[in-house]
Amino acid sequence: MTETADVVIIGSGIVGSSVAYHLAQQGCTNVLVLEREAHQGKGSTGKSMGGVRAQFTTPVNIQMSKYSIDFFSQFDEIVGHPADYRAHGYLFCATNEKHLAYLKANRERQNAYGVTNVEWVVADDIVRMVPQLRVDDILGGTFCPTDGFVDPHSVMMGFMLNAREKGVRLWLDTDVTGIEVENDRVKTVDTSRGPVATKVVVNAAGAWAAQVAQMAGAELPVEPLRRQLVPTEPFDQLPKRFPMVIDMSTGFHFRREGKGILLAWNDHDETPGFKTDFDPTFIEKILTHAASRVPVLAEAEVNPRRAWAGLYEMTPDHHCIIGPAPNVAGLYFVNGFSGHGVMHSPASGRITADLILQGHSELVDAKVLGVERFKEGKLLEETAVL
Ligand SMILES: Cc1cc2nc3c(=O)[nH]c(=O)nc-3n(C[C@H](O)[C@H](O)[C@H](O)COP(=O)(O)OP(=O)(O)OC[C@H]3O[C@@H](n4cnc5c(N)ncnc54)[C@H](O)[C@@H]3O)c2cc1C
Repeated sequence: MTETADVVIIGSGIVGSSVAYHLAQQGCTNVLVLEREAHQGKGSTGKSMGGVRAQFTTPVNIQMSKYSIDFFSQFDEIVGHPADYRAHGYLFCATNEKHLAYLKANRERQNAYGVTNVEWVVADDIVRMVPQLRVDDILGGTFCPTDGFVDPHSVMMGFMLNAREKGVRLWLDTDVTGIEVENDRVKTVDTSRGPVATKVVVNAAGAWAAQVAQMAGAELPVEPLRRQLVPTEPFDQLPKRFPMVIDMSTGFHFRREGKGILLAWNDHDETPGFKTDFDPTFIEKILTHAASRVPVLAEAEVNPRRAWAGLYEMTPDHHCIIGPAPNVAGLYFVNGFSGHGVMHSPASGRITADLILQGHSELVDAKVLGVERFKEGKLLEETAVL
């Protein structure tokens, strides 16, 4: 007998898990999540830096962050599992007038959309937070104390465990190989364990989302882009607790990770592709930026074997795509988070569940997130991308 489900979710990363949770929360529990790996979190979720922030440029990203950060702050009580949310803040540091004006405009917009706690800071404030930072060229910055970090693996597991307690099923080791469409409507999901009949399919396949969309004959502009992170060995010359610091002059940013420091930088020479190997030459590049902004980091030790690479799922406007596929009834996208899939997982799961079950979401105007925006030229253009 063919397996059936009201909703099939492809991908059990943090996004698919959040969709499962939010569907179950709204009473839709005949849900089957399909994951080709033997464990959850082997895609981008397990590679993430775990940063969460409301300091964005576009209204919809600010709204999604606001909902998500409020959610993370109560995750343990709401979901019944830990998220390890730490409100250590994000500190953006500007070294030129253009970036200063950009931060000021962003702060006004953040304030207008309910994020009222973004503080304007000057070099003295910054030195108080991170005394080791070189501030001679810093003109000012913004600090939001409720930005911070979560443990992506815990959040993903929390969402999925809660959903499973309500009846959602998770099939691991199950590769989705095709999506059958009849009369422009999804009918069956083909898997390495056999077919599953369903009327609703959610594409939560992360960096592989375009391939999954293609199985149903749908186009999805999502590209994989390698992203590399470098942890230092234990390093006690920086405070035990400090915010995520972003040097806007280079894009270098860093935070504490246990006893060491986690270093990140967006290498503009990176080209799209499914590259997940760590490139050891990246270490010298990132350490140059690190030592220039934080001179004591020149003394940090790095073990290349502990560094890692993962994939961002990029869209042309650096904004997620959430909503129904235009030409395939029953197929929903929740993809292309462009580096923000962890922090926006509560909002994206909620919006997707709302759209499937009610056809609209009260959280945001979901139409702006639809994939049609690329054909209609209504791009959102998030520029606060790290
Ligand atoms: C180095 C790095 C740092 C990052 N830092 C941050 C950060 O600080 N903050 C933040 O918010 N975001 C960050 N991100 C981005 C974030 O990790 C992603 O946006 C997020 O994890 C996406 O979640 P997902 O569930 O959509 O995708 P994934 O976690 O990749 O899950 C997709 C799942 O789909 C499965 N799948 C794919 N195809 C199939 C198929 N055919 N059949 C069955 N299963 C399939 C995969 O196996 C995978 O498990 C970072 C990413 C990287 C790489």
